[in-house]
Amino acid sequence: MDMKHLEGVLPIKDWFEEFDEELTLISGPCSAESKEQVIETARALSGISQVKALRAGIWKPRTRPGSFEGIGEKGLEWLQQAKQETGLLLAVEIASPGHLELAEKYGVDMVWLGARTISNPFSVQEIAEKLRQTDIPVLVKNPVHPDLSVWIGALERLYQSGIKRLAAVHRGFYPCEPTSFRNVPRWEILIELKRRYPHLPVLCDPSHIAGHRAYIGYLSQKALDLSVDGLMIETHPHPTKALSDAKQQITPRELKILMGKLEKRYFSSENPQFKNSLESLREKIDRLDSQILDILAQRMKLVKEIGQYKKKNQVTILQMERWQDILNSRLELGKKLGLNKTFLHQLLELIHNESIQKQTKIMNKNRRKD
Ligand code: PEP
Ligand code: MN
Repeated sequence: MDMKHLEGVLPIKDWFEEFDEELTLISGPCSAESKEQVIETARALSGISQVKALRAGIWKPRTRPGSFEGIGEKGLEWLQQAKQETGLLLAVEIASPGHLELAEKYGVDMVWLGARTISNPFSVQEIAEKLRQTDIPVLVKNPVHPDLSVWIGALERLYQSGIKRLAAVHRGFYPCEPTSFRNVPRWEILIELKRRYPHLPVLCDPSHIAGHRAYIGYLSQKALDLSVDGLMIETHPHPTKALSDAKQQITPRELKILMGKLEKRYFSSENPQFKNSLESLREKIDRLDSQILDILAQRMKLVKEIGQYKKKNQVTILQMERWQDILNSRLELGKKLGLNKTFLHQLLELIHNESIQKQTKIMNKNRRKD
């Protein structure tokens, strides 16, 4: 078993007979609330060809006590009935071995581990042990905090317990600054996960990133552009009346409309003209990148020279005025060149931090001997 690359995981199209090459859609209410709500949602969703599974929260991990904490076991009975009637597969969140036992008892076809559970290796290990005795597919949401290794750790624990139908679900990360979204997407973390584990299927949950239904379309398209294998989207027959996550749920009808609007992009194109122009543009990019690196290396060399000079003259490394000048003049120039201000600001900070580190090393060299 190649742990390093999770090479044994199965492509999502091979998970169930019902799955195909198309985008896999898992949809349903944030929480199962009543038999009518579950059945009504399932009926409407079964009319959307991409929807392969009905999701519903049975046990809800809530931040504060007193919020709706899930309907429990009887919700599983409703789901079972919805499955019998519509043929949709079932997906629920589990947070303990006991949840898994109950889910299996009611014929749940796949389970997911939520963002909060995934953040705790004890819980993940406990569930992984129980999963050893089963063959159920498992979806693994990212942890609340943007730590890729925690996400990977959970995936590895589950893979180790023999789960081959395994996928990651990107649901965004807790924002430390005010943002429009409930959770910041940090797409670069998803990209890095895909780079390290090319075989691992990845889904996106735009509902929990968005926190508001207005952004679901935008985020779904963005996820598709990054070639995710599927989407998990929360739907409710009457979203504003939902007992949890009311702002971010959409109706099954709205989901159908959204599916019609999403543009599918392909991983590559066989069109020779496209291939040629892409090749030549990539060559130009390669040349520019090597120029950028060369210039950066030259800049760092000068930074070192200045460091020596500051040391000799007993001058501090950080010269606030100079740094302010650099920021102002470069941001001004960047604006003229049409560069994004936030991006440029971050880039300049990164370069400046590296310069300071270089000079700190020079300043403190042989210090003990002095
Ligand atoms: C959910 O899917 O309803 C849920 C609670 O998700 P997360 O664990 O991503 O917050
Ligand atoms: Mn939810």
